[in-house]
Amino acid sequence: MTFTFGTDDDPAADIKTTEATETAEMCRAVERFARRELGFVPPSLDRDEFRRRWLLAGRQGLVGSVVPEAYGGSGLDAVSAAAVLEALGYGSPDTGFAFSVAAHLFAAVMPVVEFGTEEQKRRWLPALCSGERIAAHGITEPEAGSDTLALRTRAVREGDHYVLDGAKAFTTNAPVADVFVVQAATAPGGGYFGLTAFVVEADTPGLTVGPPYDKVGLRGSPTADVRLDGCVVPASHVLGAEGAGAAVFAGSMKWERTCLFAVYLGAMRRVLESTVAYVKEREQFGVPIGGFQAVSHRVVDMTLALESARLLLYKAARGLARGSEDEVAPALAKLAVSEAAVRIGLDAVQLRGALGVLTGGDAEALLRDALPSRIFSGTNEIQKNNIARALGLGGTRRPARRRRRAQNPPPTS
Ligand SMILES: Cc1cc2nc3c(=O)[nH]c(=O)nc-3n(C[C@H](O)[C@H](O)[C@H](O)COP(=O)(O)OP(=O)(O)OC[C@H]3O[C@@H](n4cnc5c(N)ncnc54)[C@H](O)[C@@H]3O)c2cc1C
Repeated sequence: MTFTFGTDDDPAADIKTTEATETAEMCRAVERFARRELGFVPPSLDRDEFRRRWLLAGRQGLVGSVVPEAYGGSGLDAVSAAAVLEALGYGSPDTGFAFSVAAHLFAAVMPVVEFGTEEQKRRWLPALCSGERIAAHGITEPEAGSDTLALRTRAVREGDHYVLDGAKAFTTNAPVADVFVVQAATAPGGGYFGLTAFVVEADTPGLTVGPPYDKVGLRGSPTADVRLDGCVVPASHVLGAEGAGAAVFAGSMKWERTCLFAVYLGAMRRVLESTVAYVKEREQFGVPIGGFQAVSHRVVDMTLALESARLLLYKAARGLARGSEDEVAPALAKLAVSEAAVRIGLDAVQLRGALGVLTGGDAEALLRDALPSRIFSGTNEIQKNNIARALGLGGTRRPARRRRRAQNPPPTS
């Protein structure tokens, strides 16, 4: 069950040989780092410990892995970045921390890489890649979850700046973030072209962060609400252009739905390996329980779920690496990995019997960490809506005023 490069059936087989060797080396280094430095999940948010880990992850090249080297990143493509995040998820039980790293990178840093001006890249990227600064991304609001175009945060232009007012919910990294990429409506009711993405520094007067949530899983990833009350943001902090917010968001979701989920591949692989070891060791009725077909078939089904999800994820990553605009492959990858994670978590708990439901075990941790994965980056129901739409299955007739919007599908989160 080890990740190997260069075989015919290997999802990463089309990485060039030297790159594959370098990536494999980086994966091994990340795995060692994760075991050494991220070997436990802190019981509650300790900002100093989080920052310490973040800086170390920065030194490993993790928090800027897909950023070009010219801006301080590691310059990896999507396939290599996924492999490295898989190694992080495999090496560390702190899936929440790995999730935070990936959310920073794909939802906040990549928008600067892909939509930022040269000046914006030089200003923000180096410290975001070195681990000195942490980024967060806010689009979700109390009243606008899946329906992102319904967001109520407003940005009103006044000369050379905008004034932002509104509230963001469930913002990953908010309690520790130095920089926020925030989506706001510059043309309320303007649909796809009504949103604009802003980079907002955490010390901007009027920006306040609520207390961290206590979540069932991903406990190593701090999440909170954010308020924006009359925040004055320079016009030079707009990403892309006014009205390009939905495009910025859609771009970041392609990265998230593909590479971020590689963290879960690693976590699943770790738990599957420990499950195989457990069922070989645990004896009932005088034999190892792994000898019972009900047990061994369950392990085979877990393997099937992991390996098929893995193929879909690396297929999506190869598409991203080639610059594909396809949104179906990332949506399928997200669906497959998150559903596999919940299933493998449940099965791993079941196979451990009563030990499975004790807190602190790797199986119950995977299950708890897997539950949010069906919700963030756009719920699995929304992924299915998006895939159905791509298949030409929209369901009911749309009212005339919504037809134009259908040509630019809403950026559901
Ligand atoms: C751990 C975690 C981290 C997160 N991090 C961030 C972050 O960093 N930044 C950020 O902006 N947001 C973040 N989110 C928020 C996340 O993007 C939203 O939770 C998600 O988009 C769903 O929105 P909602 O929770 O309001 O659910 P709702 O949209 O209210 O959905 C509730 C239920 O209704 C279903 N539903 C809604 N509309 C439809 C439809 N049209 N068809 C079928 N079913 C539908 C949903 O699938 C879901 O089952 C995070 C969430 C979690 C759990």
